[in-house]
Amino acid sequence: MSGTPTTAPAQEHLNPFEIVQKQIDEAAGRLQLPQHVIDILKKPKRVLSVSFPVKMDDGSVQVFEGYRSQHNDAIGPGKGGIRFHPDVTLDEVKALSMWMSFKCGVVGLPYGGGKGGVICDPRKLSKGELERVSRGFMEAIADFIGPDKDIPAPDVYTTPEIMGWMMDTYSRLKGVNTPGIITGKPLILGGSKGRNEATAQGCVYTVLAALKELEISPVGATVAVQGFGNAGRIAARLLAEQGCRIVAVSDSKGGLYQAEGLDLPKVFALKDHSKLADYGAPYVITNAELLELEVDILIPAALENVITGANAGNVRAKIIAEAANGPTTPEADKILQEMGVLVIPDILANAGGVTVSYFEWVQNLAQFYWTEEEVRERLSQRMHASYDAVRALSREHRTDLRTAAFMISIKRISEAMSARGWI
Ligand code: NAD
Repeated sequence: MSGTPTTAPAQEHLNPFEIVQKQIDEAAGRLQLPQHVIDILKKPKRVLSVSFPVKMDDGSVQVFEGYRSQHNDAIGPGKGGIRFHPDVTLDEVKALSMWMSFKCGVVGLPYGGGKGGVICDPRKLSKGELERVSRGFMEAIADFIGPDKDIPAPDVYTTPEIMGWMMDTYSRLKGVNTPGIITGKPLILGGSKGRNEATAQGCVYTVLAALKELEISPVGATVAVQGFGNAGRIAARLLAEQGCRIVAVSDSKGGLYQAEGLDLPKVFALKDHSKLADYGAPYVITNAELLELEVDILIPAALENVITGANAGNVRAKIIAEAANGPTTPEADKILQEMGVLVIPDILANAGGVTVSYFEWVQNLAQFYWTEEEVRERLSQRMHASYDAVRALSREHRTDLRTAAFMISIKRISEAMSARGWI
C-alpha cells in the first residue's frame, strides 16, 4: 500500500481466520502463555480440501468443492457444523473450526473444534441435487471424520434432512449403522429432542441473564433479529414467549421494522409461503438499517462481519447476543466496549447448539434417549453456569466477555495439551 496517503482510513481486515487469530492473541496475552502454545492454537491441526462430481437434473455433471477443518483435539474429537453457501472459503471454514474449539471449551464439552463447508447455493438446487451434493460431500470426507474423531452437525443452509442423508451415506460406506457420526438428525434417526431449538434456546438463556444484570425486564424489551433461519427465527419466537417485543427481523433479502412490535405469526407465514417484504412496504428496511435500530437487544443470527469498524459507532442496542458466528470484528468490539454495549460473544451466546449436539451424541452412543425436559434442564444449567463463569472472569480481569470466554477455553485446552505432553 505504499503511496497511500496517511490520512486514508485504515482498511479493516475482515478475513475470519485473521480475526480469530487476533482474538486468540488478546486472550492468550492476558493468560501469559508461552508463544509455542499460542502458535499451536492459532492454526487448525488438519484441513481437508475435496472436490466431487454431482449429476445435475439436466444430465450435466457439476464439480463441487468443499472443506473440513479440525482445529485441536487435545480435549476430544472435533465437533462442528457443515455450511452450504456460495461464499464458503477455506479461511472461513478454518476460522469456524477454531471458534468451535473455544465454544466447546466455554461450555465444558469434551470436544475440540471442527467445521465443514461446501461452495454451493442450495437455494438454486433441486431437492434431488441437494441430496446428491450432501451425499457426495459425506463420501468425500468419510475417512477424515468419525464418531470418535470428528462429528459434523447443521450450520447455514443445512438441515436435519441433510444430516439424515449424510448419516445414511456414512453408515452405508462403513457397513454399520452409525448415528453418532453426525448430530442435528431427524428424531427418527436418533436426533435429540430439543436440538432444533437448542442454539436459539441457549442464546435466549444468555440474553435473559444479561437483561437481569442490566435490570431490564424482558417484558416489553425490544428486539431486532438479523437472519431468520434456525437460530434467528426460533430466538425471535422464544423471546416473544418471554414477553419481549420483536420489532425487527430480516433474512438474506432484507428486513422488516415495526416499532410497536411485528405480528410474528404473520411474519412466520410470509417466510414460509412468500417473502418477508409482503408484510407491507412501509415496514421494509435493509439489513444494514436493522443493525442500527434503537433496541434493547440486537441478535445477529446470519453471517460473519456484519458489525464492523464502519457501523459499530451507529449501533444503538444495549445488548448484542451473537447467535451467528463471528458477526462482530475486533475493531467493532473495541468501539462497542467504549460505548458500554454488552456483547455476549458467539462462543458463549450460540453454544446451546453444540451443547445439545453433545447430548445427542451421548444418547446415540448409549442408545438411550432423554425427554425434552431433561434436555432443556441440562442445557439451562450449562448455559447459566457458563455465562456466570465468563461474567466473573471478565470482572476479575476488567475485560469484555469475549476475551474472558476465550481465556476460559484457552486455559482448558492448554491444560489438556500439557496433560498429553504436547507442550
Ligand atoms: P440457517 O440456514 O437456518 O439460516 C440462515 C438465515 O440467515 C436465513 O434466514 C437467511 O436468509 C439469512 N441470511 C443469509 N444471508 C444473509 C445476509 N447476508 N443478511 C441477512 N440474513 C442473511 O442458518 P442458522 O443455522 O440459523 O445459522 C445462522 C448463524 O448461526 C450462522 O452464523 C451459524 O454459524 C450460527 N450457528 C448456528 C447453529 C445451529 O445449530 N444451526 C449453531 C451455532 C451457531
